[in-house]
Amino acid sequence: MLKVLKFGGTSVGTLDRIQNVADIIKTIKDDGHDVIAVVSAMSGQTNKLLEYAEHFSKSAMPNEIDMLLSSGERVTSALLSIALNEQGYKSTSMSGREAGIITNNDHTKARIESINTDNMKNAISDGKVIIVAGFQGISQHTSRVSTLGRGGSDLTAVAIAGAIKADVCEIYTDVDGIYTTDPRIEPKAKKLDKISYDEMLELASLGAKVLQNRSVEMAKKLNVNLVSRSSFTPEVEGTLITKEENIMEKPVVSGIALDKNQVRVGMYGVTDRPGIASLIFTALADSNINVDMIVQTVGVDGKTDLDFTIPTTDWEICKEVMKQFENDAENIDYNEAISKVSIVGVGMKSHTGVASKAFTALAKENINIRIISTSEIKISMIIEEKYSELAVRSLHDAYNLDK
Ligand code: ASP
Ligand code: MG
Repeated sequence: MLKVLKFGGTSVGTLDRIQNVADIIKTIKDDGHDVIAVVSAMSGQTNKLLEYAEHFSKSAMPNEIDMLLSSGERVTSALLSIALNEQGYKSTSMSGREAGIITNNDHTKARIESINTDNMKNAISDGKVIIVAGFQGISQHTSRVSTLGRGGSDLTAVAIAGAIKADVCEIYTDVDGIYTTDPRIEPKAKKLDKISYDEMLELASLGAKVLQNRSVEMAKKLNVNLVSRSSFTPEVEGTLITKEENIMEKPVVSGIALDKNQVRVGMYGVTDRPGIASLIFTALADSNINVDMIVQTVGVDGKTDLDFTIPTTDWEICKEVMKQFENDAENIDYNEAISKVSIVGVGMKSHTGVASKAFTALAKENINIRIISTSEIKISMIIEEKYSELAVRSLHDAYNLDK
């Protein structure tokens, strides 16, 4: 098999950790597989380099920032390759340029346009392990080094796996897979063997921060089998993120996600007229505010109540934008003491009674649900923030996710 592996910052955070990664690669190589490993900078390094730049300028040119930041990943790729060569394993490091990664010209947040895999293919036929410096390429027009945005090494790995048609792309972090919910909230949470791309995307956007969303989207698009596993416990299998068709027994509910960083915006007593929702949500979109759940109800008096949620980080701008609508409503208020709990599962598509079970579970705990929204594979509920953990645990129980 051809395996693309990716090791994040904590997995290569010290020289000992780099040796540990070399040992993982050696075991995989000994099992007869070809290996391309993508590495991040040592943990904390990228931030440190950014601080150095800020010492001289708060507005450094993006292409200079890229020159600077890309060095962090090159350090780890060279060190890992040096270690492997010393220990009798043929290995070569590659910068983004040498790995053939071409991006657009958006320095510090570049997108990968294409990958020329010739160099990598030649090295593999020479029997070499390849260690690619993650998170970078060269920009199409200027040939200068570019970087892919924070956390971009995941993207490098998935893009390479797609381009070179690897059998699997294993993302090594300090957690050993995807769980039915956050084990710090529910110790009975179970590691999942498999999960579909769409479920993973929902869980990630709902606050389970294991894999970068952009790279899961790319894995789905390029049909790359992703595995989330730990470099601290490499003997543990991890979770496979794959096409829904590859999952034979689809659980009705796969996981429970919690997102506390939400603010509920309420606009009450709006005089109902066509176009008001369009005006409000266009203004919010123009300010790049990410509106999530929206509920509108018209009362007997013909007045409309509008509730929606936004990320806490967008709260200040949202207040600014909403000022222009103050005269359209009797009252606009904001509630930050809320959270969103969501249940996610592809099996919901073909089962009834999934939602009612969630509502019953929360009712039993006397938790009031403020807003509900559903999609094919997700049910999200806005509740009072102080009940977050209780809600997660009771939902986890209700769907027997510990079994
Ligand atoms: N070193 C970069 C960062 O810290 C890229 C990565 O680790 O994926 O964002
Ligand atoms: Mg990282």
